[in-house]
Amino acid sequence: MSSERTFDAIVVGAGPAGEVCAGRMAAHGLKVAVVERELVGGEGSYYACMPSKALLRPGELVDEVGRVPGVRLAQPPLDPPRVLTRRDEVIHDLDDSVQLPWLERRGIELVRGQARLDGERRVRVGDEVLQARRAIVIATGSTAVLPPIPGLAEAAPWTNRQVTTAEAVPGRLLILGGGVVGVEMAQAYATLGASVAVVEVLPRLIHREEEFASEEVADGLRARGVDVRLAAIAVGASRGDRQVRLEFEGGEALAGDELLVAVGRSPTTAELGLETVGLEPGTNVEVDDRLRAGGRDWPFAIGDVNGRALLTHAGKYQGGVAADVIAGRDVRAMTDGPLSPRVIFTDPQVAAVGHTLASAEEAGLDVSAVDQPTDSVAGSSFRGHGASGTARLVIDERRGVIAGATFTGPETAEMLHAATIAYVAELPLERLRHAIPCFPTRSELWLRLLEKAGV
Ligand SMILES: Cc1cc2nc3c(=O)[nH]c(=O)nc-3n(C[C@H](O)[C@H](O)[C@H](O)COP(=O)(O)OP(=O)(O)OC[C@H]3O[C@@H](n4cnc5c(N)ncnc54)[C@H](O)[C@@H]3O)c2cc1C
Repeated sequence: MSSERTFDAIVVGAGPAGEVCAGRMAAHGLKVAVVERELVGGEGSYYACMPSKALLRPGELVDEVGRVPGVRLAQPPLDPPRVLTRRDEVIHDLDDSVQLPWLERRGIELVRGQARLDGERRVRVGDEVLQARRAIVIATGSTAVLPPIPGLAEAAPWTNRQVTTAEAVPGRLLILGGGVVGVEMAQAYATLGASVAVVEVLPRLIHREEEFASEEVADGLRARGVDVRLAAIAVGASRGDRQVRLEFEGGEALAGDELLVAVGRSPTTAELGLETVGLEPGTNVEVDDRLRAGGRDWPFAIGDVNGRALLTHAGKYQGGVAADVIAGRDVRAMTDGPLSPRVIFTDPQVAAVGHTLASAEEAGLDVSAVDQPTDSVAGSSFRGHGASGTARLVIDERRGVIAGATFTGPETAEMLHAATIAYVAELPLERLRHAIPCFPTRSELWLRLLEKAGV
């Protein structure tokens, strides 16, 4: 016999987007349930952002120390098994119990199981029906895509799940896909001692970013021994006794012990019952700027599943906006599309917000770009030798504001937020010159960039 319970709102998926949304709705005084079929915390906590950064951070530290004369490193500087143990600590050994008190403190009901929409404002979880008075929020995230390359599925490739939770560092790792996940994992595993090849079908890595960023990241990977193959078309894959093979157009092949496929994500919308509420399964759940789906006032979709920006912070932001809308506030999401702030944690790091020069031109903006080497101000000298990179502002000439900014170099991630504030606030350049950066910090790059922009 099925039971039925009623809440103000039901969130399907307890990843970062769903959790933030549930928390904020609870703070608005709403009675909230969250349904989760795997781990509370979602992909980001266990198989994506958190473990990938835990794998990258030790190598980053070694690089940092190695650049500054007078500091000695133990040899070898990295202890891979302990790096993996530390990674396990960061992902709580795939146990989500530490996340539960956060929900409990907010009075949020956690329902474990696979949710299916079951008509208007209804969700079915096993035998139980959950009814929502106000809204259902779809926050089911995304899943790694396997391209239809003959033999690939049978070759048992790794996705983000296996690469972020591996129990040992493979001797040879092939990576199909030179996007963010591909380059970050190439960097991490090369640093941990694997022989890595990264294969990209396009003529450059991380193709959505500035061209100089692609080149610098490719150079950085090559400098640590990664075999970077560009414009390479994989046409077949196979796994034998001891190795996996990737074959390319033209007859070349690469062999490895493991193969990571990192060519993109698809929204987790199959088997979700979307068809019962007039939404299409298997595609992004498209939303308006209030995160409402299908032009109605009760289904919402936030995070990766709506395809606006596949980034944890974008999903969390959307979660907050959706919660406010559901609570009756008049707000809209404005800054969570493809121009969202983003960081690629390679060496050099790539930290960007807004347009690249090319995307601004494609969008028809009247823009110019000013560039400055990241290591060209006094504050950079403390980063040591070889801490190079490029800082670029894309200037909207008509409006006199920043249309985009990119900073490459070690630890530029923490420099990005100043640019994000200037970009989102649409601060006039004339006003920005009065934001005085401290001496000696790398933020003095802003002075050089603004000078070049004629301010
Ligand atoms: C390797 C890697 C590294 C990344 N690094 C970063 C980074 O550094 N910074 C960054 O901003 N982004 C990063 N991302 C992207 C980031 O992981 C995602 O944008 C983020 O996890 C999306 O959050 P979400 O809440 O939308 O979905 P998810 O985190 O995918 O959570 C969705 C949840 O819904 C649950 N679910 C799905 N279907 C159902 C159902 N029918 N019933 C019940 N529960 C269901 C799932 O089990 C899951 O827990 C990375 C991605 C990868 C792959």
